[in-house]
Amino acid sequence: MVGKNSVIEKKIFNLSNCRCQVHFAMPKNVTVLHIFRDAPTKPASGSPCNGCGVCCLIAPCPLGVLLSCRRLGACQALIWQAEDRRYVCGAITSVHDVLTRRLPLYAHALLPVLCSLLRRLAKRWVAEGVGCDCDVEIDTVTQDG
Ligand code: SF4
Ligand code: SF4
Repeated sequence: MVGKNSVIEKKIFNLSNCRCQVHFAMPKNVTVLHIFRDAPTKPASGSPCNGCGVCCLIAPCPLGVLLSCRRLGACQALIWQAEDRRYVCGAITSVHDVLTRRLPLYAHALLPVLCSLLRRLAKRWVAEGVGCDCDVEIDTVTQDG
């Protein structure tokens, strides 16, 4: 969970034809998130999730920690869906691909079992459908290009 007042600035730069950066100026440092330009603006905490991707780009959820092997930074299971202009959780939408990428080769024999398990548990683990639980606040937005 990211602290409510930890984000005081957001800037968007069109660095290429498809990506932009969001800068979060925090009290003691600055975190830069790379977000697709077409991604929706993050809604208020408690609103329906719109797939802005901010929460999963800042830090993985507990399932994402397992899949990404890290506690900070973009979740390795996060997928940008250009046609829908939103981010989706690969642990829900692309289970086989995500596990194939994340598991070492010697564990691929377990893929059928693990895919089945993840399909059953992922929605509950990532609390899909409960609304945005990310209370990051974005104060300013600038865009170049
Ligand atoms: S939970 Fe909130 S921050 Fe995370 S993707 Fe959904 S709307 Fe964006
Ligand atoms: S909801 Fe899915 S994409 Fe987001 S951090 Fe969790 S596992 Fe990763």
